[in-house]
Amino acid sequence: MDRETSRFVEAHPRSAELFERARHSLLGGVPMNWMSKWPSPFPPFVADAAGAHFQCVDGHDYVDLCLGDTGAMTGHAPPQAVEAIAAQAARGSTLMLPTEDAIWVGEELSARFGLPSWQFTLSATDANRFSIRLARAITDRPKILVFNWCYHGSVDEAFITLRDGVAGPRDGNLGPPVDPALTTRVVEWNDIAALEAALAHRDVAAVLAEPVMTNIGIVHPEPGFHDELRRLTRQAGTLLILDETHTICAGPGGCTAAWGLEPDMLVIGKPIAGGLPAGAYGFSAQVADRIAATITLEHADVGGIGGTLAGNALSLVAMRATLSSVLTAGAYAHTIPLAERWTDGVAAALVEHALPWQVTRLGCRAEYLFGPTRPRSGSEAAAMDDFALQRLTHLYALNRGVLLTPFHNMALVAPQAAEADIDRHTALFREMAAELTAP
Ligand code: PMP
Repeated sequence: MDRETSRFVEAHPRSAELFERARHSLLGGVPMNWMSKWPSPFPPFVADAAGAHFQCVDGHDYVDLCLGDTGAMTGHAPPQAVEAIAAQAARGSTLMLPTEDAIWVGEELSARFGLPSWQFTLSATDANRFSIRLARAITDRPKILVFNWCYHGSVDEAFITLRDGVAGPRDGNLGPPVDPALTTRVVEWNDIAALEAALAHRDVAAVLAEPVMTNIGIVHPEPGFHDELRRLTRQAGTLLILDETHTICAGPGGCTAAWGLEPDMLVIGKPIAGGLPAGAYGFSAQVADRIAATITLEHADVGGIGGTLAGNALSLVAMRATLSSVLTAGAYAHTIPLAERWTDGVAAALVEHALPWQVTRLGCRAEYLFGPTRPRSGSEAAAMDDFALQRLTHLYALNRGVLLTPFHNMALVAPQAAEADIDRHTALFREMAAELTAP
């Protein structure tokens, strides 16, 4: 780690200078606190980004497999979106009035996810928060249920973990308004018996779940789990909210379309506006009717859902361009085989060097985990995590021109990526595996 840290510092004098300056005006020297989590002593400052690559201010080129933690899954600056955004920016960005693009996007999201009614936000976090509020409002129940080690954005109700059977605030939960155990039930992913028992209290308004857990490493559902999740939520009168913000990597309609899932509500955000801030949440016809009956016109602006800039003209034009021309079936036909190539490369290196790790994939997202056994739950995946080792593997990649997300070991493939980009990672991963296992 010392060797790799020195190598990074030597290669990034200009970023070091900027970081030093930033420390005087930005908390921790970064504009958003997550940006201090990179494995290097300071982040590389960005000069330019296009497609699957970016260049830092020190002139190095990187293959970007982080892609803004999915915010740039479209690749950076996709020309079709850039053109539409530039044209709309010159014609007005935000009016708190609808544009026709909103209808096009609503129709497109309906076609992709099978839910007929949509609303827009500026982030997936907001879409989750508003979905939860509405679920509580229409069911008149106080709690939500999440799966242990989930992540759904900065949503108070979801910052809860289960340790030795006891639910409590997640480590690092800053200033929770109340103990999340008051608002939330939490069970392990793939644990149908625990789910059934938790729903039996009949106080759960909604289950909020990713179709595949992606935020503690990728943890797949076991065969039949989604059928049981849907059956048990229906039986308990609990709504099912699927958060497809990350699992949109599975295909143009996420896992919902790929597996024929039937959520009552669905959340999406991050890449859908080609890199501009935008989120969306959709409802079944029945849920839409129940919501409409709950919201009064007089109080529509102060009910705790909405937002001044939400549904603005600029993000809607960006969503239209992104959904019509960038995140298309054709793009997935290119990115999924490249993610398979990435997975195969890592798997071969693990075998070659007898490294007891594993690699897994969902669509154009893939990930290695520091252990040999496939995790069934968030707890099992969390137990395999190793923060110090993760910092080393990420810095090793960064020093050789590949950016991985600073959270777990995720690689996401952009539509503009080429085989050579994937092979750059495979080569460095093999080199690293050899070093890590050297006697
Ligand atoms: N849902 C999921 C599944 C996520 O992974 C995230 C962010 N990592 C969010 C929601 C929140 O997205 P944002 O931070 O853009 O609001």
